Order: sequence, then structure tokens, then C-alpha cells
Amino acid sequence: MTAKIIDGTALAQRLRAQFHAQAEALAARGHRPGLTVIIAGDNPASRVYVRNKVKACNEAGFDSRHIEFPAEVSTETLLAEVARLNADPAVHGILVQLPLPAQVDSGRATAAIVPHKDVDGFHVANLGGLVNGKADFAPCTPAGVMEMLASESIAIEGRHAVVIGRSNIVGKPMALLLLQAGATVTICHSKTVDLPAITRQADILVAAVGKPKFVTANMVKPGACVIDVGINRLETGKLAGDVDFEAVKEVAGWITPVPGGVGPMTIAMLLANTLKAAGRTAQS
Ligand code: NAD
Repeated sequence: MTAKIIDGTALAQRLRAQFHAQAEALAARGHRPGLTVIIAGDNPASRVYVRNKVKACNEAGFDSRHIEFPAEVSTETLLAEVARLNADPAVHGILVQLPLPAQVDSGRATAAIVPHKDVDGFHVANLGGLVNGKADFAPCTPAGVMEMLASESIAIEGRHAVVIGRSNIVGKPMALLLLQAGATVTICHSKTVDLPAITRQADILVAAVGKPKFVTANMVKPGACVIDVGINRLETGKLAGDVDFEAVKEVAGWITPVPGGVGPMTIAMLLANTLKAAGRTAQS
């Protein structure tokens, strides 16, 4: 069997075209969706991510900006900027790019964003909302994975979903979204014993580990849907996921590539969340 490849780039493009039309409709009513990204320091990867996010938003007709702070910025300065953006009616979404410089209290920075502008979905109110099914916004990467599953009409209800990774931004919210969709969910992590025995039971397997070629063909049930969240920079400079793509695609039913899989969907979901925030403002 050769797996069907779920093309995240193509799906994200389709969604972004829809979002563009919705953004223009909102703008015509005086509510052009606005996203502001705060970045501090000069982490090269963060700069690339921020540039891509701002560009994608602007291409979709949003009013998107970024505010840069030097690496030595204090928590207080950053919190003051968040407070200003919280109060600005033209800003519907606020995102603080992580990681922040070591002296900045990241927890306080994330908590300072009002939950209805927290388009990254990292505020405890939104993470807690995932537990009771009432989050304003789900974190973008797991939300993107759910869109990918929906795009292929992959059955979730009653299926066994295994998530490898328990981070607050990917693994845990991913597990909660799958649970909400009716899956029986197992979360695996670095302390899990006999991981392959568990992953081999998965109808849906999500890898969010951060180790190239971590998921091998013998860890996958034939016909399973394998979603690769990992983004790893190899010594060659190339990007690779957490899944041994070439081998696993011969066993799985569906598989996502890296690059061109979950990554573009993460940005698309940021647009979706910002649009949702702007739409709410327009209704209020
Ligand atoms: P993290 O380092 O916070 O978490 C990694 C998780 O992997 C941990 O929970 C850990 O317990 C688990 N793990 C580590 N070794 C393991 C082992 N041997 N067996 C089982 N589990 C193990 O990372 P993260 O922020 O959740 O990101 C995970 C990956 O996803 C990274 O490669 C990151 O770059 C990528 N990522 C991609 C996107 C995207 O848009 N595609 C977004 C966020 C993160």
C-alpha cells in the first residue's frame, strides 16, 4: 500500500482564498481583520516565522503588523505593549512570538493578552476552554491537523488516536481536540514504556516529538493516518519531520509531508482565528 499524501500547502491555499473573501467582506463593514505580532530578540527561526505569518495575513487582506523589541527588553515593557494592543479596537488578534529572551517572563506575557484576542490559543483561559469544549481559540497547529483530517473525511469518532508528545502547544491540545471529536486518545511521551506497541494500535497517529525519522514503519498500523507535526533542521540544512516518510508511506493509509504538511496549515489557522476574532467584533 502507498499512502495518500495530504497536501497541507494546497489545503492551506484553498482556505486562505476563502479567508481573503471573508476579510474583504468584513473590511467593507469597517472591520478589516487586524493581527499584531510581537517579537523580541533576534532568534533567526522566530524572525522567519513572524515574517511568514505577517505576509500570509497581509496577502489575505488583513491589516497585519509586527512590533520588534531588542533582546534586552524587560517583561514590564512587553506587558505595557500588550496592554496597549488589548485596548486597540483595530487589533483583533495579538500574538507574542515564542521563545522570548530568557529574562522575560513568557508566562506573564502570554497571560496578559485578553483571551478574546489570543489567536495563538495559548492563554490558560483558552487552553482550559479546550477541556470543557468552550475555547475561544484552539492552538493553531492542532487546529490545523483537525482541518487536515476533515479535508480527507478521516473518521475520528470511535477510532484510536495516539499522540506522541505532551507539550502545551501541540501534544496536549491535540489530544483534547481529538477527544472532543470522539476518538479514544492515548498520549505518549518521553517516559512511555514500549511506545511501538501503543503506536501500532493507532488509527490516527500524530507525531510531535522534534526528532527526525522517530516514527518508523514498524510503529505504524497498516492503513493508519499518520500526521507529522515535527519540524527538524538536518545537518544538510534540509527540513525533516518526525516520521520516516519514505518507509512509513508504504504502510500508512494517509500521511503528511514535511515540508508542505502541517506547517502551512498552522499559519492558515492563525488567519482563521484572527478572522473569527474580527467577526465577533463586527457582531458586537
Ligand atoms: P516539545 O519539545 O515541547 O515536546 C516534545 C515532546 O516529545 C515532549 O512532550 C516529549 O515528552 C516527547 N518526546 C521526546 N522524546 C520522546 C521519546 N523518545 N518518546 C516519546 N516521546 C518523546 O516540542 P513541541 O513544541 O511540542 O514540538 C514538537 C515538534 O513539532 C518540533 O519538531 C517542533 O518544531 C514542531 N512544531 C511544528 C509546528 C508546525 O507548525 N508544524 C508547530 C509547533 C511545533
